[in-house]
Amino acid sequence: MTAILKTLQADITTLKVDAIVNAANTSLLGGGGVDGAIHRAAGPELLAACRLLGGCRTGDAKITPGFSLPARFVIHAVGPIWRGGAEHEAELLASCYRRAIEIASENGIASLAFPCISTGVYGYPIETATEVAVRTVRVTLAAHQSIHEVIFCCFSVQDLAVYQHLLGAAAPLSSDPL
Ligand code: ADP
Repeated sequence: MTAILKTLQADITTLKVDAIVNAANTSLLGGGGVDGAIHRAAGPELLAACRLLGGCRTGDAKITPGFSLPARFVIHAVGPIWRGGAEHEAELLASCYRRAIEIASENGIASLAFPCISTGVYGYPIETATEVAVRTVRVTLAAHQSIHEVIFCCFSVQDLAVYQHLLGAAAPLSSDPL
């Protein structure tokens, strides 16, 4: 089965998917941007659950319930801070998309939504981050057939245009059969 890859402009906290991915930091104790929005929408139980996880390395991810969110789970993925591109940023960004999918698969998750990890406060340029995200998700999904739908959830219309261009160029709305 070929997973559907799609993009939309939305507040990720409103999506009714099995899991949303958080662009977290290594402490997993909350922050600004999408992280702050997810903690506000999930309620204080999310922070309590995150405290038990002992942080997370850059390039890795950890899972919690979604508490008051419409999504059943939150997968907290830690992307790299952009330092010019020669500090393994692409590798670390790819790794957090890959780990999020592996964890989703281990937890029986069929649909998940990613924000544009690292492209906010962490400063990763949106075009190159999008290339890494789409390529890594496509390749990783081939080994995780239980995941049926991946949404790239963009907050801005500019980010949406970048995703639409990249997804449209290679395969409209659906990943290539592998
Ligand atoms: P990072 O520290 O990984 O760069 P940010 O939260 O600063 O994380 O930004 C990551 C992306 O999340 C940015 O594209 C930002 O516009 C977006 N974002 C912020 N709030 C939301 C939200 N509620 N839903 C979806 N995306 C969001």
